[in-house]
Amino acid sequence: MKFTRRDLFVWGAGAAAGLAFTPVPWKLLDDVSIWSQNWPWIPQPARGPVEVKQSFCTLCPKGCAMKVRVAGGWPVGVAGVNTNPITGGALCPLGFGAHQLNWHPRRLRSVRHNTTDSSWTEAQAAFAKAVGEGPVVVVDGYPGRAASSVLRAFAEKHGSYQIASNPESRALRPYEQWTGVPAHELGYDLENARTILSFGAPLLDGWGTPGRFTRLWAERAAGVADPQLRLIQVEDSLSRTAARAWRWVHIPTGSESALAGGLARVLIEEHLVAARGPMPSITLTEAANAAGMNEGGFRELARAIVEKPPVLAIANDDSPEIAALNVLWGAMGARGGVVRRSKRSEAAVPERSLPSVRAVLIDASVPWDYAPRTGGEVFRFAAWDGGDSKADWLLPAPGFLEELTVMPTEATSAIETYAVATPLVKPPSEVHSAADFVGTVDATLTTAEKIIHSRCEELFRVRKGTAYGNDTTSVAKLESAQKLEELLWKGAIWTGDPPSPGGLRCELKNWPEAAGDAHRAVDWANAWSAPVLPPLATKLYRESSLREAPERRNA
Ligand code: SF4
Repeated sequence: MKFTRRDLFVWGAGAAAGLAFTPVPWKLLDDVSIWSQNWPWIPQPARGPVEVKQSFCTLCPKGCAMKVRVAGGWPVGVAGVNTNPITGGALCPLGFGAHQLNWHPRRLRSVRHNTTDSSWTEAQAAFAKAVGEGPVVVVDGYPGRAASSVLRAFAEKHGSYQIASNPESRALRPYEQWTGVPAHELGYDLENARTILSFGAPLLDGWGTPGRFTRLWAERAAGVADPQLRLIQVEDSLSRTAARAWRWVHIPTGSESALAGGLARVLIEEHLVAARGPMPSITLTEAANAAGMNEGGFRELARAIVEKPPVLAIANDDSPEIAALNVLWGAMGARGGVVRRSKRSEAAVPERSLPSVRAVLIDASVPWDYAPRTGGEVFRFAAWDGGDSKADWLLPAPGFLEELTVMPTEATSAIETYAVATPLVKPPSEVHSAADFVGTVDATLTTAEKIIHSRCEELFRVRKGTAYGNDTTSVAKLESAQKLEELLWKGAIWTGDPPSPGGLRCELKNWPEAAGDAHRAVDWANAWSAPVLPPLATKLYRESSLREAPERRNA
């Protein structure tokens, strides 16, 4: 069974509401007792001192801050960090049970070559041979980490570096060509928006960092007839986000582009915006027909959208028509709009077409069901076996909090952040990361520690931002870069200054017409799935009736 982000978040919300009224907690306690007696693989934590340490969840690109309870050197419980300015203490259900994952029966513990057992020596020899024979594509699912810098440096020398981006980052891509700014330097200033027009983006189902939008929505919108934050959800089914939005606009599947074009036409014709974009070719009648509305209703919707500015449109894919709405109503670089959060990020990696690819190396951060677009021998790193792997080599990677890594800024964030996920567990000797693996072929590559060290020096040099740990400390008041590094190693997060409006020149000469891109079909919430779930979450998921089955979600 596949568990997607939406499943996890819907389940989480349902559980929070329903647990108090069901026998599930008591049944669960009973079951847990039975497991601990009967399942030999369930570890018995060592006896020893109990400590609470801070780190960050590395299971997906959200990088939520965590307090981890460690007994005798083993993590035995996880909680959110209330003082974290991004999550405010929120975690998804997967994060709450993450400490169980290292003991999961599907944890990869040996090298496999075409489903038979092999060894690291053989895998390294095969990879070195491939590197010597032709270009290698390295696929990273979580760019911006220290390991990403190592993988990228390797790929630039030996082939090509690619990012298996998620739909949240893809939704920012259309702005790249209109602003000249890479998508990973852009974010959404949700905190200052008054109206959010979401085209199927699951804002209340696991979009962005847990806690960020749900907190805003709870503070400024929940249960209020005329809220301070209006969420207008355009979607073909009554999702959780649609059900809770200020207004749900029910449209037929695939009519989002027509709706966006029609809205632009009405806004320009009725002078509801200072026109900053060209007129779309679609007529109002065509747009209204496609969206299943009458023309009067269409015009009323356009007026309601811009009634309370700032207005921000968010797509669930890389639709340029939806992105163009933000240009039209002046949300680019504006308060409550699409903002540039950083000017230091590494440049976007240009797609490089290689004549032939000898091998593909897939980092453990890439979602399990990712399929390489090119041929070549596949070296796939993963901590857990999600089943049905087509990789030639399956290579066991470090699990939960077993590896030093950096948490870069989350894709939708308006503020730049930087944190260090300190390893709290010694990895088993049979696992290695992809960054270490490429280091065996190319000894000139640097290490994660050195990358973190130089980033801290850089942050200290510019004297900007704040470190949030046990205390809140302005970087300008710190005495040295070492002090900042020390704070980050102890679980603090550095956040940059809020973006100042302006500074994002955007030019849109022609209204983008529907391109029929295959990405359009991607359902955001189904695009990221966990290869395995912790036993606690699996048990609740299967035995409670607190949530709708995935197959019925779109019914
Ligand atoms: S959203 Fe991602 S990073 Fe946050 S707790 Fe869940 S799995 Fe971990």
